[in-house]
Amino acid sequence: MSSRGNLKANLQLFVTRRCQLRCVYCPILKGDGVMPLATALKGADLLLGHGSPSLRLDFGGGEPLLNFDVVREVSDYALRRAARLGKRLGFYMVTNAILVDDEVLEWARSRRALLEFSMDGAPADHNRFKAAYDRGLDPYAATRAGVERARRAGVPHFVIMVASPANVNRLAENFEHLLDIGVRSVDLSYAIGASWSEEDEAAFLDQVERVLARHARALESGEIRLGNASQRVEPTVLNSELMVDPDGSLHQMSEWMFETTPASAPAPFPVGTLDTVKDINALRWSRFHAYYTLLKMYEGNEKVRAAILNNISFGLRVGKFFRGAAGRLGKVPA
Ligand code: SF4
Repeated sequence: MSSRGNLKANLQLFVTRRCQLRCVYCPILKGDGVMPLATALKGADLLLGHGSPSLRLDFGGGEPLLNFDVVREVSDYALRRAARLGKRLGFYMVTNAILVDDEVLEWARSRRALLEFSMDGAPADHNRFKAAYDRGLDPYAATRAGVERARRAGVPHFVIMVASPANVNRLAENFEHLLDIGVRSVDLSYAIGASWSEEDEAAFLDQVERVLARHARALESGEIRLGNASQRVEPTVLNSELMVDPDGSLHQMSEWMFETTPASAPAPFPVGTLDTVKDINALRWSRFHAYYTLLKMYEGNEKVRAAILNNISFGLRVGKFFRGAAGRLGKVPA
Protein backbone atom coordinates (compact mmCIF):
# COMPACT_ATOMS: atom_id res chain seq x y z
CA MET A 1 0.00 0.00 0.00
CA SER A 2 1.29 3.41 -0.83
CA SER A 3 2.31 5.72 1.97
CA ARG A 4 0.31 8.41 0.11
CA GLY A 5 -3.00 6.78 0.85
CA ASN A 6 -5.56 4.12 0.29
CA LEU A 7 -4.82 3.27 -3.33
CA LYS A 8 -6.23 -0.22 -3.07
CA ALA A 9 -9.77 1.10 -3.48
CA ASN A 10 -11.30 -1.76 -1.58
CA LEU A 11 -13.11 -2.15 1.70
CA GLN A 12 -13.76 -5.38 3.60
CA LEU A 13 -17.04 -5.87 5.42
CA PHE A 14 -16.72 -8.28 8.35
CA VAL A 15 -20.33 -9.35 7.91
CA THR A 16 -20.13 -11.67 10.91
CA ARG A 17 -17.75 -12.84 13.61
CA ARG A 18 -19.38 -16.25 13.72
CA CYS A 19 -17.61 -19.24 12.18
CA GLN A 20 -18.16 -23.01 12.04
CA LEU A 21 -14.41 -23.52 12.51
CA ARG A 22 -11.68 -22.58 14.97
CA CYS A 23 -8.55 -22.66 12.85
CA VAL A 24 -5.46 -22.98 15.03
CA TYR A 25 -3.76 -19.98 13.40
CA CYS A 26 -6.86 -17.76 13.05
CA PRO A 27 -6.19 -14.40 14.73
CA ILE A 28 -9.83 -13.28 14.74
CA LEU A 29 -11.95 -13.23 17.89
CA LYS A 30 -15.22 -15.07 17.31
CA GLY A 31 -18.54 -13.93 18.67
CA ASP A 32 -22.17 -13.46 17.84
CA GLY A 33 -21.63 -10.14 16.09
CA VAL A 34 -23.57 -10.10 12.82
CA MET A 35 -23.58 -7.02 10.58
CA PRO A 36 -27.03 -5.54 10.03
CA LEU A 37 -27.95 -4.59 6.47
CA ALA A 38 -28.04 -0.87 7.35
CA THR A 39 -24.38 -1.02 8.44
CA ALA A 40 -23.38 -2.90 5.30
CA LEU A 41 -25.11 -0.28 3.12
CA LYS A 42 -23.24 2.51 4.90
CA GLY A 43 -19.99 0.61 4.27
CA ALA A 44 -20.83 0.35 0.57
CA ASP A 45 -21.57 4.09 0.45
CA LEU A 46 -18.19 4.84 2.03
CA LEU A 47 -16.39 2.71 -0.57
CA LEU A 48 -18.36 4.21 -3.47
CA GLY A 49 -17.06 7.63 -2.47
CA HIS A 50 -13.51 6.50 -3.31
CA GLY A 51 -11.89 8.53 -6.09
CA SER A 52 -10.94 5.48 -8.13
CA PRO A 53 -13.19 4.48 -11.05
CA SER A 54 -12.63 0.82 -10.19
CA LEU A 55 -13.59 -0.42 -6.73
CA ARG A 56 -13.89 -3.70 -4.87
CA LEU A 57 -16.17 -4.65 -2.01
CA ASP A 58 -14.81 -7.55 0.04
CA PHE A 59 -16.64 -9.88 2.39
CA GLY A 60 -14.95 -11.60 5.30
CA GLY A 61 -15.22 -12.36 8.97
CA GLY A 62 -15.77 -14.94 10.57
CA GLU A 63 -17.48 -16.85 7.84
CA PRO A 64 -19.29 -14.39 5.56
CA LEU A 65 -21.69 -16.98 4.14
CA LEU A 66 -23.27 -17.19 7.61
CA ASN A 67 -24.70 -13.76 6.74
CA PHE A 68 -25.31 -14.33 3.05
CA ASP A 69 -28.60 -12.37 2.92
CA VAL A 70 -26.72 -9.21 3.82
CA VAL A 71 -23.94 -10.04 1.32
CA ARG A 72 -26.49 -10.40 -1.46
CA GLU A 73 -28.49 -7.30 -0.59
CA VAL A 74 -25.51 -5.00 -0.14
CA SER A 75 -23.89 -6.22 -3.35
CA ASP A 76 -27.08 -5.51 -5.35
CA TYR A 77 -27.38 -2.07 -3.76
CA ALA A 78 -23.72 -1.26 -4.39
CA LEU A 79 -23.93 -2.38 -8.02
CA ARG A 80 -26.93 -0.14 -8.67
CA ARG A 81 -25.17 2.84 -7.09
CA ALA A 82 -21.89 2.10 -8.89
CA ALA A 83 -23.72 2.04 -12.23
CA ARG A 84 -25.27 5.44 -11.50
CA LEU A 85 -21.84 6.81 -10.56
CA GLY A 86 -20.20 5.31 -13.67
CA LYS A 87 -17.79 3.17 -11.59
CA ARG A 88 -16.71 -0.42 -11.98
CA LEU A 89 -17.35 -2.54 -8.93
CA GLY A 90 -16.04 -6.04 -8.20
CA PHE A 91 -16.57 -8.38 -5.27
CA TYR A 92 -14.26 -10.65 -3.33
CA MET A 93 -15.06 -13.12 -0.59
CA VAL A 94 -12.81 -15.03 1.82
CA THR A 95 -14.72 -18.15 2.80
CA ASN A 96 -14.22 -21.64 4.21
CA ALA A 97 -16.55 -22.86 1.41
CA ILE A 98 -18.69 -24.92 3.81
CA LEU A 99 -21.91 -23.13 2.80
CA VAL A 100 -21.14 -22.81 -0.91
CA ASP A 101 -24.27 -24.02 -2.69
CA ASP A 102 -26.02 -23.29 -5.99
CA GLU A 103 -27.48 -20.05 -4.69
CA VAL A 104 -24.10 -18.75 -3.57
CA LEU A 105 -22.48 -19.80 -6.84
CA GLU A 106 -25.20 -18.08 -8.85
CA TRP A 107 -24.59 -14.92 -6.84
CA ALA A 108 -20.82 -15.18 -7.41
CA ARG A 109 -21.21 -15.85 -11.13
CA SER A 110 -23.75 -13.10 -11.81
CA ARG A 111 -21.80 -10.49 -9.78
CA ARG A 112 -18.43 -11.71 -11.10
CA ALA A 113 -17.18 -12.21 -7.55
CA LEU A 114 -13.83 -13.87 -6.88
CA LEU A 115 -13.96 -16.49 -4.12
CA GLU A 116 -10.93 -17.21 -1.91
CA PHE A 117 -11.31 -20.62 -0.28
CA SER A 118 -9.22 -21.58 2.73
CA MET A 119 -8.13 -25.19 2.48
CA ASP A 120 -4.92 -26.60 3.92
CA GLY A 121 -4.49 -29.75 1.85
CA ALA A 122 -5.10 -33.41 2.69
CA PRO A 123 -7.69 -34.44 5.32
CA ALA A 124 -5.29 -35.02 8.24
CA ASP A 125 -3.60 -31.63 8.02
CA HIS A 126 -6.75 -29.76 7.07
CA ASN A 127 -8.72 -31.12 10.03
CA ARG A 128 -5.81 -30.67 12.42
CA PHE A 129 -5.40 -26.97 11.69
CA LYS A 130 -8.96 -26.12 10.71
CA ALA A 131 -10.76 -27.66 13.67
CA ALA A 132 -14.55 -27.89 13.79
CA TYR A 133 -16.49 -25.71 16.23
CA ASP A 134 -19.91 -26.86 15.05
CA ARG A 135 -20.59 -30.32 16.43
CA GLY A 136 -20.54 -33.19 13.95
CA LEU A 137 -18.82 -31.16 11.21
CA ASP A 138 -16.00 -32.71 9.18
CA PRO A 139 -14.20 -29.52 8.06
CA TYR A 140 -12.25 -31.22 5.27
CA ALA A 141 -15.27 -32.95 3.72
CA ALA A 142 -17.45 -29.84 3.99
CA THR A 143 -14.85 -27.50 2.49
CA ARG A 144 -13.86 -29.91 -0.25
CA ALA A 145 -17.52 -30.28 -1.29
CA GLY A 146 -17.86 -26.48 -1.60
CA VAL A 147 -14.60 -26.12 -3.54
CA GLU A 148 -15.63 -28.89 -5.94
CA ARG A 149 -19.03 -27.28 -6.49
CA ALA A 150 -17.36 -24.01 -7.43
CA ARG A 151 -14.98 -25.79 -9.79
CA ARG A 152 -17.79 -27.67 -11.54
CA ALA A 153 -19.80 -24.45 -11.85
CA GLY A 154 -16.80 -22.64 -13.36
CA VAL A 155 -17.00 -19.83 -10.79
CA PRO A 156 -13.66 -17.96 -10.43
CA HIS A 157 -11.87 -18.99 -7.27
CA PHE A 158 -8.54 -19.84 -5.76
CA VAL A 159 -7.42 -21.71 -2.66
CA ILE A 160 -5.24 -20.26 0.05
CA MET A 161 -3.26 -23.02 1.71
CA VAL A 162 -1.65 -22.19 5.05
CA ALA A 163 1.44 -24.05 6.28
CA SER A 164 2.45 -24.05 9.94
CA PRO A 165 5.87 -24.94 11.39
CA ALA A 166 4.35 -28.24 12.59
CA ASN A 167 3.36 -29.39 9.09
CA VAL A 168 5.64 -27.41 6.80
CA ASN A 169 7.40 -30.60 5.72
CA ARG A 170 4.18 -31.72 4.06
CA LEU A 171 3.56 -28.49 2.11
CA ALA A 172 4.40 -30.05 -1.28
CA GLU A 173 2.33 -33.12 -0.46
CA ASN A 174 -0.64 -30.98 0.54
CA PHE A 175 -0.25 -28.93 -2.63
CA GLU A 176 -0.42 -32.16 -4.66
CA HIS A 177 -3.60 -33.08 -2.84
CA LEU A 178 -5.23 -29.82 -3.91
CA LEU A 179 -4.23 -30.54 -7.51
CA ASP A 180 -5.64 -34.07 -7.17
CA ILE A 181 -9.07 -32.71 -6.27
CA GLY A 182 -9.01 -30.35 -9.25
CA VAL A 183 -7.77 -27.08 -7.75
CA ARG A 184 -5.64 -25.12 -10.24
CA SER A 185 -5.08 -21.79 -8.52
CA VAL A 186 -3.33 -21.63 -5.15
CA ASP A 187 -1.72 -19.08 -2.85
CA LEU A 188 0.81 -20.61 -0.46
CA SER A 189 0.73 -18.94 2.90
CA TYR A 190 2.36 -19.43 6.26
CA ALA A 191 0.81 -19.12 9.70
CA ILE A 192 1.06 -15.57 11.05
CA GLY A 193 1.69 -15.43 14.78
CA ALA A 194 3.76 -18.61 14.73
CA SER A 195 7.48 -18.26 15.23
CA TRP A 196 9.36 -19.52 12.14
CA SER A 197 12.84 -20.82 13.02
CA GLU A 198 15.68 -20.97 10.48
CA GLU A 199 14.94 -24.68 10.03
CA ASP A 200 11.22 -24.02 9.49
CA GLU A 201 12.04 -21.31 6.97
CA ALA A 202 14.45 -23.59 5.11
CA ALA A 203 11.80 -26.32 5.08
CA PHE A 204 9.17 -23.90 3.72
CA LEU A 205 11.40 -22.73 0.88
CA ASP A 206 12.57 -26.27 0.14
CA GLN A 207 8.97 -27.48 -0.09
CA VAL A 208 8.04 -24.59 -2.39
CA GLU A 209 11.06 -25.40 -4.58
CA ARG A 210 9.73 -28.94 -4.92
CA VAL A 211 6.37 -27.59 -6.08
CA LEU A 212 8.08 -25.28 -8.58
CA ALA A 213 10.37 -28.02 -9.91
CA ARG A 214 7.60 -30.56 -10.29
CA HIS A 215 5.15 -28.21 -11.99
CA ALA A 216 7.44 -25.77 -13.79
CA ARG A 217 5.84 -26.29 -17.19
CA ALA A 218 2.24 -26.01 -15.95
CA LEU A 219 3.14 -22.94 -13.90
CA GLU A 220 4.82 -21.30 -16.89
CA SER A 221 1.90 -22.04 -19.20
CA GLY A 222 -0.65 -20.85 -16.65
CA GLU A 223 -2.34 -24.24 -16.40
CA ILE A 224 -1.54 -24.01 -12.69
CA ARG A 225 -1.48 -20.59 -11.04
CA LEU A 226 0.59 -19.75 -7.98
CA GLY A 227 -0.55 -16.39 -6.60
CA ASN A 228 2.73 -15.90 -4.74
CA ALA A 229 4.55 -15.55 -8.07
CA SER A 230 2.31 -12.75 -9.31
CA GLN A 231 0.25 -10.76 -6.86
CA ARG A 232 0.85 -11.81 -3.27
CA VAL A 233 2.56 -9.03 -1.31
CA GLU A 234 5.01 -9.74 1.51
CA PRO A 235 5.43 -9.45 4.39
CA THR A 236 1.81 -10.47 4.91
CA VAL A 237 1.77 -9.24 8.49
CA LEU A 238 2.16 -5.63 7.26
CA ASN A 239 -0.41 -5.93 4.49
CA SER A 240 -3.14 -3.87 6.05
CA GLU A 241 -6.62 -3.43 4.61
CA LEU A 242 -9.50 -1.21 5.66
CA MET A 243 -12.14 -3.26 7.46
CA VAL A 244 -15.62 -2.68 8.91
CA ASP A 245 -16.61 -4.65 12.01
CA PRO A 246 -20.24 -5.79 12.43
CA ASP A 247 -20.79 -2.84 14.82
CA GLY A 248 -19.83 -0.33 12.11
CA SER A 249 -16.40 0.56 13.52
CA LEU A 250 -13.55 0.94 11.03
CA HIS A 251 -10.15 -0.68 11.50
CA GLN A 252 -6.89 -1.41 9.77
CA MET A 253 -6.43 -5.15 9.41
CA SER A 254 -3.18 -4.84 11.38
CA GLU A 255 -5.26 -4.19 14.51
CA TRP A 256 -6.66 -7.70 14.18
CA MET A 257 -3.57 -9.65 13.15
CA PHE A 258 -3.12 -10.95 16.73
CA GLU A 259 -6.58 -10.22 18.04
CA THR A 260 -7.01 -13.48 19.97
CA THR A 261 -4.11 -12.33 22.20
CA PRO A 262 -5.28 -9.36 24.30
CA ALA A 263 -3.37 -6.21 23.32
CA SER A 264 -1.56 -4.21 26.00
CA ALA A 265 -2.35 -0.84 24.40
CA PRO A 266 -5.14 0.47 22.15
CA ALA A 267 -4.59 0.84 18.43
CA PRO A 268 -2.55 4.03 17.97
CA PHE A 269 -4.39 5.30 14.87
CA PRO A 270 -8.13 4.84 15.53
CA VAL A 271 -9.96 5.12 12.22
CA GLY A 272 -13.48 5.92 13.47
CA THR A 273 -16.86 4.54 12.55
CA LEU A 274 -19.14 4.56 9.53
CA ASP A 275 -20.99 7.43 11.26
CA THR A 276 -17.89 9.56 11.79
CA VAL A 277 -15.81 8.85 8.68
CA LYS A 278 -17.49 10.41 5.69
CA ASP A 279 -14.68 10.43 3.12
CA ILE A 280 -12.63 7.30 2.43
CA ASN A 281 -10.18 9.41 0.38
CA ALA A 282 -9.16 11.25 3.55
CA LEU A 283 -7.91 8.05 5.20
CA ARG A 284 -4.17 7.51 5.09
CA TRP A 285 -2.11 4.57 6.13
CA SER A 286 0.96 2.66 5.06
CA ARG A 287 3.04 -0.35 5.96
CA PHE A 288 4.79 1.84 8.49
CA HIS A 289 1.40 2.49 10.15
CA ALA A 290 0.81 -1.27 10.25
CA TYR A 291 4.27 -1.87 11.74
CA TYR A 292 3.89 0.83 14.38
CA THR A 293 0.33 -0.30 15.17
CA LEU A 294 1.40 -3.87 15.83
CA LEU A 295 4.43 -2.98 17.97
CA LYS A 296 2.49 -0.35 19.92
CA MET A 297 -0.50 -2.60 20.64
CA TYR A 298 1.73 -5.41 21.89
CA GLU A 299 4.44 -3.36 23.60
CA GLY A 300 3.78 -5.26 26.86
CA ASN A 301 3.92 -8.69 25.28
CA GLU A 302 7.41 -9.76 24.28
CA LYS A 303 6.21 -13.04 22.83
CA VAL A 304 3.85 -11.37 20.35
CA ARG A 305 6.38 -8.66 19.51
CA ALA A 306 8.95 -11.35 18.77
CA ALA A 307 6.42 -13.13 16.54
CA ILE A 308 5.67 -9.86 14.69
CA LEU A 309 9.37 -9.24 14.01
CA ASN A 310 9.88 -12.89 13.08
CA ASN A 311 6.95 -12.79 10.65
CA ILE A 312 8.24 -9.58 9.06
CA SER A 313 11.74 -10.90 8.44
CA PHE A 314 10.44 -14.28 7.29
CA GLY A 315 7.91 -12.56 5.00
CA LEU A 316 10.61 -10.33 3.46
CA ARG A 317 12.67 -13.40 2.58
CA VAL A 318 9.62 -15.27 1.26
CA GLY A 319 8.80 -12.24 -0.92
CA LYS A 320 12.37 -12.15 -2.28
CA PHE A 321 12.23 -15.88 -2.96
CA PHE A 322 9.00 -15.58 -4.93
CA ARG A 323 10.24 -12.57 -6.91
CA GLY A 324 13.11 -14.80 -8.04
CA ALA A 325 10.70 -17.65 -8.75
CA ALA A 326 8.44 -15.33 -10.76
CA GLY A 327 11.41 -14.44 -12.97
CA ARG A 328 12.15 -18.11 -13.57
CA LEU A 329 8.49 -18.79 -14.42
CA GLY A 330 8.20 -15.76 -16.68
CA LYS A 331 5.62 -14.07 -14.40
CA VAL A 332 5.42 -10.47 -13.36
CA PRO A 333 5.96 -10.28 -9.58
CA ALA A 334 3.92 -7.94 -7.38
S1 SF4 B 1 -12.50 -20.40 8.64
FE1 SF4 B 1 -11.54 -18.37 8.55
S2 SF4 B 1 -12.61 -17.12 10.12
FE2 SF4 B 1 -13.14 -19.28 10.52
S3 SF4 B 1 -11.63 -19.88 12.07
FE3 SF4 B 1 -10.80 -20.45 10.08
S4 SF4 B 1 -9.48 -18.72 9.41
FE4 SF4 B 1 -10.83 -18.01 11.10
